Amino acid sequence: MNSIIRIAVQKSGRLSDDSLSLIKECGIKFYNGTGKLKSTSTNFPIEFLFLRDDDIPGYVSDGVADLGIVGENELVEKDREVGILKRLGFSKCRLSLAIPKGEHYENVSYFEGKSLATSYPKILGDYLRSKNINAEIHEISGSVEIAPSIGLAEGICDIVSSGSTLMMNGLKEVEEIFKSEAVLIANKFLSEEKLAIVDKLLFRINAVQKGKSNKYVLLNAPNESLEKIISLIPGMRSPTILPLAQEGWSSVHSVLSEDQFWENIEELRAAGAEGILVVPIEKMVI
Ligand code: ATP
Ligand code: MG
Repeated sequence: MNSIIRIAVQKSGRLSDDSLSLIKECGIKFYNGTGKLKSTSTNFPIEFLFLRDDDIPGYVSDGVADLGIVGENELVEKDREVGILKRLGFSKCRLSLAIPKGEHYENVSYFEGKSLATSYPKILGDYLRSKNINAEIHEISGSVEIAPSIGLAEGICDIVSSGSTLMMNGLKEVEEIFKSEAVLIANKFLSEEKLAIVDKLLFRINAVQKGKSNKYVLLNAPNESLEKIISLIPGMRSPTILPLAQEGWSSVHSVLSEDQFWENIEELRAAGAEGILVVPIEKMVI
């Protein structure tokens, strides 16, 4: 029988859309109807399990799923033995300690003897131990931000992205204790056949990620400034130079990261570049 790999992705939540977009951008087709818990791709040997994110590390370490996409916060909290194959750059957030706005705060010793509510008792416990702080941890599974106002705890440790939820609940962020993004994880004991499929998937993910972080740039330049312009946008091997219909001018095509583009734009214009176009790249293999 031909091998197939099984990947666990979040059914619905802050990881789901980006996880599924990445899979689709890799050219992998599948049906994802509402309420479906399992689906098989029609053009790649992969099967999807749609789960709560809490269960993903366990399913992957137990081998029920071969791969998974999960936030590092959930992965470290669940403390399961899996390999991290790739950082995916989406669902970025941080775990922070927060206390009521009106409290005076100088440093982490504030928390000595205090009580903290969190859904991340392991990460918080490790952090407090590393700082030699004794605090009481109340594990709750959601709505952590209201704990101080209802008298359940004096502070909280929770996920923050913009900080607006904290503000709405009269809290202020005082320490960042963990940074997280989505990661692709794998079972540690995959067969050769499965590893070969995982390699194909990783090849595609790399091509999509490189494409996203780079741009195809086209510009017109007078021939006398070509040397300078080429030095500013050297491209993958070297830029393409095509003559324009107008004598003495060329069109220069190159690939560069978006950051490089913004860094060099003034110098490019000063060197005589004009009609500059920046075009997205869908996939990039180098
Ligand atoms: P589930 O029902 O699957 O258990 P959940 O409610 O536990 O979902 P979500 O809120 O969907 O989890 O968040 C999933 C993951 O997305 C988090 O573990 C974290 O890694 C990341 N995340 C959470 N909040 C944000 C945010 N505001 N911005 C970006 N990423 C976030
Ligand atoms: Mg969850």
